[in-house]
Amino acid sequence: MNNHIDIFNIPISKINLLDLNRQNLKYFLISLGAKNFCTEQVMSWIYNYYCDDFNKMLNISIKTRKKLYEKSYIFASEFIEEKISYDGTIKWITDINNQKIETVYMPEKKRSTLCVSSQIGCSLKCHFCATGQEGFQRNLKVSEIIAQIWQANKRLKEKNIKKNITNIVFMGMGEPLLNLKNVVSALTIILDEYGFGLSKRRVTLSTSGIVPALDKLRNMIDVSLAISLHAPNDFIRNIIMPINRKYNISSVLSSALKYFKYSNANRGGITIEYVMLDRINDSNEHARQLSVLLSKIPSKINLIPWNSFSGPSFLCSNTDRINMFANILRKKGFTTTIRKNRGEDINAACGQLTGIITNYFKK
Ligand code: SAH
Ligand code: SF4
Repeated sequence: MNNHIDIFNIPISKINLLDLNRQNLKYFLISLGAKNFCTEQVMSWIYNYYCDDFNKMLNISIKTRKKLYEKSYIFASEFIEEKISYDGTIKWITDINNQKIETVYMPEKKRSTLCVSSQIGCSLKCHFCATGQEGFQRNLKVSEIIAQIWQANKRLKEKNIKKNITNIVFMGMGEPLLNLKNVVSALTIILDEYGFGLSKRRVTLSTSGIVPALDKLRNMIDVSLAISLHAPNDFIRNIIMPINRKYNISSVLSSALKYFKYSNANRGGITIEYVMLDRINDSNEHARQLSVLLSKIPSKINLIPWNSFSGPSFLCSNTDRINMFANILRKKGFTTTIRKNRGEDINAACGQLTGIITNYFKK
């Protein structure tokens, strides 16, 4: 039950514990007069046992439990809809005050990845992205980011799916670096051994390159970094990603390089994402330009076949073109992978996330 609303439907100013990372939870518990070690016990109930009821936290003193109940609650918005793809991908929709966000689970042989949203919508309006076309609603709170992982784990258990989440990518709706504080707090919980306990190499933040925020990030948290580059020069990037007019390719790559130098999570290089758009950014010459751009950036390149949605007049590059493009980069010495599209039949693929439940036009 949503116990932060009283019987008259009036919100009470209680704290949702899913908004607090370990440090903040510690301060909060101390303010309630609880013992220091209580923090780890409470986190363990929340993140190990998925417990949202203080009465069940039997190793916490009755006095502290009473205080916790008076001042706080544990609430993770539930999924209102679930769609399952033929390839095992699951897309969940959460309704937050009548606004929708999406979370996608992608099982593979050796790992299972959860793709989470960081904002409702996105303000950056990249022309090839459905989320960008929908406009921006608001930033997600820490608890709303964490709830996606919490509910996904609970749901997988309920469905008896044994393939646990091993990787988390911030590649759902929104630009994580425009919600820096909440995203970093959520990342801290994801990496915390008393939180979800994932290794920093298995947690990826994907960004279109908000340079001042990326410069701050390296002093805040170390995770895998993916840069949405998508163009081999500023001329093309200015057109398909308007944010490039503010932070151009060279400023984004030099900030990414600084992040790399401080990071342990990116030893194999930073991931460069490159969406393949027919006759826009996919020629042999573009591949060569890209290799020059990245010559001094330790990186691996992930080519993403463009996923269609109604609206823009783009086409995805054909398979031969994508392979040719990849081979040029490989010959220049870059580790280059071609992303397999997941959950296309349920509109769960990259850039198809809009929170709209009805089906999109398919190519
Ligand atoms: N805002 C962040 C993270 C969310 S988008 C970012 O832009 O990096 C996750 C990835 O999907 C990005 O690389 C994005 O450019 C890519 N993407 C967006 N729309 C797409 C589409 N229609 N087809 C394929 N990839 C897309
Ligand atoms: Fe926003 Fe990323 Fe989509 Fe661009 S690609 S509009 S930054 S979500």
